[in-house]
Amino acid sequence: MTPLGIARTATVIVAVVLMTSTRAPASAVIDDSLLVRIYDNAGVLASELAAALRTTHDILRRADLSVDWVRCGARRDGPGPAVCDQPLSSGDVVVRLTEGSDQENGERRALGYSLFDGKGVSGFATVYVDRVDWLARRAQYPRAPLLGRAIAHEIGHLLLRSNAHTQTGLMREVWTAEQVVRNRREDWTFSPDQNGDLRNARYAAMSNAKKGRRPPT
Ligand SMILES: [Zn+2]
Repeated sequence: MTPLGIARTATVIVAVVLMTSTRAPASAVIDDSLLVRIYDNAGVLASELAAALRTTHDILRRADLSVDWVRCGARRDGPGPAVCDQPLSSGDVVVRLTEGSDQENGERRALGYSLFDGKGVSGFATVYVDRVDWLARRAQYPRAPLLGRAIAHEIGHLLLRSNAHTQTGLMREVWTAEQVVRNRREDWTFSPDQNGDLRNARYAAMSNAKKGRRPPT
């Protein structure tokens, strides 16, 4: 924890030498769903982002979490949704897609990080799209599902208000190209215990949320 009380956690990936080788942004918001504001500063194609978010949605759906996405920021198409200009409600999160610095040129690069306070109010996650691409290239694997998994990992940190990692599953710290190629379902999902924790955390956030309708998106 920093003096500001902000927790920061990073997901790191390790490249290995390989011998071989969306739910779309919603137009309306369900009141009990998790609202995720997407700020895409990396210029991800809309179709790829939609595919990535479908992966994220499917992962969170297994924890019985409903998610709505709204694209905010300069690169969005057309006028901005009104909700982008509203203060975050309790439990709402922001995901920023951007490119990482060139300072991490080794075989261990952070895919993203999450910032949250200790009060369960809201959280901010950053995912480095170029590093997702880097891992995807090494694994010769499509970018969109990897991006969706990285987003789900960071949302997991935000919902659980924890920077902890596990040895296995989606919340492990190190993702290797070998694991990407292997593509085992259990490597890319929350554990049953984590699914329960996610649900409990979401219900707690909802109970703390102020009453009233969200503005239309
Ligand atoms: Zn992490």
